[in-house]
Amino acid sequence: MDKKITIAIDGFSSTGKSTLAKQLANALGYVYVDTGAMYRAVTLFAMQNGYIAADFFDKETLIASLPFIHLQFKFNPDLGFAEMYLNETNVEKEIRTIAVSNFVSKVAEVSEVRAKLVEQQKQMGKDKGLVMDGRDIGTVVFPDAELKIFMTASAQTRAQRRYDELKEKGDDISFEEVLKNVEERDYIDTHRVDSPLVKADHAIEIDNSHLTREEQFDKVLALVNSIQ
Ligand code: C5P
Repeated sequence: MDKKITIAIDGFSSTGKSTLAKQLANALGYVYVDTGAMYRAVTLFAMQNGYIAADFFDKETLIASLPFIHLQFKFNPDLGFAEMYLNETNVEKEIRTIAVSNFVSKVAEVSEVRAKLVEQQKQMGKDKGLVMDGRDIGTVVFPDAELKIFMTASAQTRAQRRYDELKEKGDDISFEEVLKNVEERDYIDTHRVDSPLVKADHAIEIDNSHLTREEQFDKVLALVNSIQ
């Protein structure tokens, strides 16, 4: 049997990391972990409890509340992927809204939040056979991952993809609002002090502005096969 490896996928917002990660996990029989969902769930918790709002962020109270935030992925066989549960409630829908997207990068700047989530992520990957996507997977969570991918695409292309996705879900939103959110998150994610988004050493960069999902998948699967 092929040896199981760890695949770390990092990159800017809406570069299609989760699409690629899910395709790989399905093809390889690996576990897929969407770490963005974890930061989004903590953000939802902060919003629900009034710790964060426009021009207001009570970081200290959020930090003090971290022991009361229980995150869990539960596999949904009908969907073919794991959904995010926050304190035993399925929040998969709520965490994908633009409201959460607008606050998540501020929450993800908080070192105490990162420390808690990174510890949980390391635990999930201890047996390998895992595809994990996020911003710091190849740099911080699994610096020894056998395969590291860094995904990019132009901000316009990414915003268009996210806009189409949100529209399909019935969200009432403008393209400009989505583009602004994508650019703001890119800025915060690449400039934060703790674990900023950077290309990890030895990561393979894929600009998928002009690649189809299939072309991208084939390219990365060939890389996996060259390692296993
Ligand atoms: O991947 P997704 O776009 O859902 O991530 C939402 C946000 O969570 C990112 O913009 C980033 O601020 C934060 N994040 C992070 N580190 C990760 C995954 C996500 O800081 N590993």
